[in-house]
Amino acid sequence: MKARSYVDVLHRIQGVTARDRSWLVSEIALLSYPPDRYPLVALRRPGEEGVPRLSLSAGMHGDEVAGVEALLRFLESDLPRCFASIPLIVLPCQNPFGYEHHSRFNGCGLDLNRQFDKPDTPAQESLPLKRFLLQHRPDLVVECHEDSDADGFYLWEIKRPGRPEIGRAIVDRIAASRPITAASAIEGCFVTDGVAHPTAERIGRIGGWSHTYLLFQNGASHCLTPETPSARPFDERVDMHLISVRTALERV
Ligand SMILES: [Zn+2]
Repeated sequence: MKARSYVDVLHRIQGVTARDRSWLVSEIALLSYPPDRYPLVALRRPGEEGVPRLSLSAGMHGDEVAGVEALLRFLESDLPRCFASIPLIVLPCQNPFGYEHHSRFNGCGLDLNRQFDKPDTPAQESLPLKRFLLQHRPDLVVECHEDSDADGFYLWEIKRPGRPEIGRAIVDRIAASRPITAASAIEGCFVTDGVAHPTAERIGRIGGWSHTYLLFQNGASHCLTPETPSARPFDERVDMHLISVRTALERV
């Protein structure tokens, strides 16, 4: 039983690229889950040379759908044109099978966000995603997630010394109209007013490298993982992700 249609996502992406020819779309894999097949789609826009590259991604966990909707609305909005100089890569839905079946996992029951340090992972999504990300090497990363246990918005932030605290700016904006988590610790890591600071030790504990940890280990200077509280209304969570994306664009 499917919860939603990935074909709708593909149609919306086609609509975006038909209207704005600056987007380059590639099918980085054709995923096979008989009887279904899913083109895994990535977009990029060159922007201006010398400007740091921003990566936007969502849908790694298929039941965390607000980020997918937020990135589609971002692509359909004027925002990409307002920030035309910024080179962008966008992965709107990294786990199409999970998206359709409302599952955290891929079609083989694997958590894709734990596979990025495993060269022989059986997850057919992982190596194409890794290849695309390492080919385009973003400087700044926004990887949208949701948390069904959270009492409000929070985000994970890892960054090189000297980088400005984008995470704090995002939380402050969202806090103006939306709930922020009251937690002072999440998954054993410190949280300061909605900004969670992952430790290297956590990577071992959760069982593998995430999308953001892969990129941070490969030159990204700043990685943000917004986590929206699944219990809140859908449009509110989508807005939280869009605020995160817009704030990152303003601070590239
Ligand atoms: Zn997640």
